Amino acid sequence: MTSFSYHLVVICLIIIRQNISQTDGLPDVIKVGGLFGEDNEEQEMVFRMAIERINADPSILPKSTLVAQVERIGKEDSFHADKRVCGLLRNGVAAIFDPLEGSISRHVQSICDALDIPHIITRWDLQVIKDGLSINLYPRPSLLAKAYVDLVKAWSWNRFVILYEDNEGIVRLQDFFKEAQLRNWEIKLYQFEQGKPYRDTFWKIKEENEYNIVLDVKKRNIYNVLKQAQQVGLMTEQHSYLITLLDLHTVDLEDFNYGRTKITSFRIVDSSSLELQSLIDDWPILTARLGYRRTKAPDNSISTESALIYDGVRLLATAIQDLDQSQTVEIQSISCTAGVPWEKGSSLINYMRPITFRGITGLVGFDQSGFRSSVTLDVMTIDLEGSGLQKIGIWSEDSKLDNSLNISNQWISHYTKLTLQNAHLSITTVLSPPYTMVKESSNTKIGNDQFEGFSIDLIQELSKILHFKYEFRLVKDKGYGRPDANGTWNGMIGELIRGEADIAVADLTITSKREAAVDFTHPFMNTGISILYKKPTKKITSLFSFLSPFSNIVWIYVVGAYIGVSSMLFIVGRLSPYEWENPHPCRKNDEVLENGFSLSNSFWFTIGSLMQQGNDLSPKAMSTRTIAGIWYFFTLIMIASYTANLAAFLTVEKIVFPIEDAVGLANQDTIKYGCLQSGSTASFFSESNITTYKKMWKHMSSTPGVLMVSNEEAKQTVERSDGKYAFLMESASIEYTVERDCNLTQIGGLLDSKGYGIATVKDSPVRMPLSQAILQLQESGVLLLLKERWWKQKKGGGQCVEDKKGGGSVTPLKIDNVGGVFVVLLGGLSFSLFVAILEFMWKARNFDVSQETICEEMLNDLKFAFSCQSSSKAAKPRAGTSLDCYKYSDEKGSSLPPQFSTIY
Ligand code: ASP
Repeated sequence: MTSFSYHLVVICLIIIRQNISQTDGLPDVIKVGGLFGEDNEEQEMVFRMAIERINADPSILPKSTLVAQVERIGKEDSFHADKRVCGLLRNGVAAIFDPLEGSISRHVQSICDALDIPHIITRWDLQVIKDGLSINLYPRPSLLAKAYVDLVKAWSWNRFVILYEDNEGIVRLQDFFKEAQLRNWEIKLYQFEQGKPYRDTFWKIKEENEYNIVLDVKKRNIYNVLKQAQQVGLMTEQHSYLITLLDLHTVDLEDFNYGRTKITSFRIVDSSSLELQSLIDDWPILTARLGYRRTKAPDNSISTESALIYDGVRLLATAIQDLDQSQTVEIQSISCTAGVPWEKGSSLINYMRPITFRGITGLVGFDQSGFRSSVTLDVMTIDLEGSGLQKIGIWSEDSKLDNSLNISNQWISHYTKLTLQNAHLSITTVLSPPYTMVKESSNTKIGNDQFEGFSIDLIQELSKILHFKYEFRLVKDKGYGRPDANGTWNGMIGELIRGEADIAVADLTITSKREAAVDFTHPFMNTGISILYKKPTKKITSLFSFLSPFSNIVWIYVVGAYIGVSSMLFIVGRLSPYEWENPHPCRKNDEVLENGFSLSNSFWFTIGSLMQQGNDLSPKAMSTRTIAGIWYFFTLIMIASYTANLAAFLTVEKIVFPIEDAVGLANQDTIKYGCLQSGSTASFFSESNITTYKKMWKHMSSTPGVLMVSNEEAKQTVERSDGKYAFLMESASIEYTVERDCNLTQIGGLLDSKGYGIATVKDSPVRMPLSQAILQLQESGVLLLLKERWWKQKKGGGQCVEDKKGGGSVTPLKIDNVGGVFVVLLGGLSFSLFVAILEFMWKARNFDVSQETICEEMLNDLKFAFSCQSSSKAAKPRAGTSLDCYKYSDEKGSSLPPQFSTIY
């Protein structure tokens, strides 16, 4: 389909729809009444222009023309108002628009209610009556109160002044008061005194040193009020105003643009609306056509009530069109005196309520009672660059959301940063090295000068960025903060909650429970719970440490392999014919064969190769060589592994800890353990669901004297305990302690992971800027420098570096390390002597031919040995030389005695 034919079809469909949707009952001319005061010229113009634009719009009421019926009523002129309204009704109007003030409007409302004429209101002070004929486009005061509360929360005001002009203001803000009371905000109420300059009240506010002001005044007075505040000196950088007026955008604020005063208000007119832009563009033509003399268009925007009237006209036209689809709409003349109501009036109001559309006041929608329910407000503030009122966010009605305000964080932090400037913060802290320590000095110091440490430097750095003043104080009960059974907090957290301090700076852990009671900044350090323990004495080196390279089971396997392989070699040697040899190769016919691998030779062969020494036995058969080969391989690997491991075992002294981690600590009874009594570590154990930690808490809570007041006390207890006490401390503090106290060490890893943050009072304005400044310090590396300074450099840092280095280095072997080898050697020698004696006695008893006693023979032999003569001279048959004798006899052809022959 071509684009032309497509558009043709769409146009035809629209025409058909319009013909179907509009019944014949709708009159050609529909009159709409409007009551305007003398100073409501803009509203009257907008009312007429809105009607003009509806008439020009083919999508709404294409067959009827709306006609404006305008009546001007003077202030407090209810008599004429009565007459004029009745005149309008006589003319037959579909609805009456009424932006009038106070009592006249209420009067008009009662006439409309009585005669069933839709009454369209655009003012806050006229409430719609239940089942009445009114509909109000102005947001309900309770809804606006919600927006004010959200803004006060965002600006983090805990204390402020409410300054109002007349009793209407009090009524308008009553929901805001209620909410403020619930939140314990510190509020002071001031009313401008009638007939006196606004300055008088501003002087009082100035004397009270109040900086945050909620201002409720009429549009016509706002400029004067702000001007007089400026004259008194209440328009400085430190002052903040929340102006309840929705029309601040229509006020000339040029005089206040450059003072950096924080002036904020809400605006319902959606200046980004295309409809509004086109209305402003058409303004000169339309006003000229309507016969107004003042045809100059307003700059960018129009007043709230004019915009509400504009949307009201669209609402009415849409409702008439909708009503026309279901019934014939007749607009008749109504007489005030006859009192016969318009029969279509209540239907028309009922058709208006469900309508929602995007108008020039944002999303327009109503609840069943006729109150405006859909409201979106722009948050407007004076730009600090001096370019006037700017939109910095929006607030939208959403009952599901706790906070419907959406302002960019940049603005919030900018504002709160300004609030922080020149603020004087009272800081609570606890003595805990290296975070806060008392300065050692010969002269007495006072104020912040008494303290030093990481926390003190951190605050100093933050104050350089944020320009606040501060004063450090020590927490009274020396605690960090834990809730008791009644939920009352102690320690620094308790002081914040009770308002005794503004912020708490220390090694204060961020926990979920604390976060519910106070606010925390971004963490400035990460940590976790670990164990501080006294370093155990070094391992006593064992005599038999040469056995350490292999575990017992490996040694057993090696011995088993040795026995197995030796036995195998013996059996295989026996079986293999190649291992049988003629001992006298020259005597070819000799039938006597010898086998080298006797049982003892087999064991000797394998031990020789296991010790890497070798011997004169050599396997000849393939089978025995295979065994030998595989055994050589086995010994190669085993000896290489043994040698490699032996060096490490002999040179490195291992420290043996009686406990290795928290589980080890929990599963023993000899070492007592504890943690800080009023800190997050105690809470971690007391609230844990893990069995081990539960068990540990049971031990800690039931053993007297294990819970400590401070890390310093804990450190001393661990030192004195000689391994009988372990302390569960946070790793950052352990790191600091072991850096200086070389007898102490950390055992095991971290049980959890958490961070330290600066705690502030709930909803405090200082939290956000502090957080940002902490991130800034983190990114620029200042936090790292501070840590380096207080952990490694100052107060004896780096003392245990040497100790750490020495821990793993090579030390010369002492006799303690290798003494066992000597013991084995001595043992072996003694054993061989013992065996030699046994052998001697055995031979002497069986083969000795002399008459000497064994002792004599032994003595003779020893003498012979020490005489250093050749053994070949020993012709005399002695027990020790009997082998020679038998060898000799063997050569003579006698058979060998069984002890010396090989086994056949
Ligand atoms: N830093 C901890 C705290 O904030 C102290 C501890 O319990 O170890 O409570």
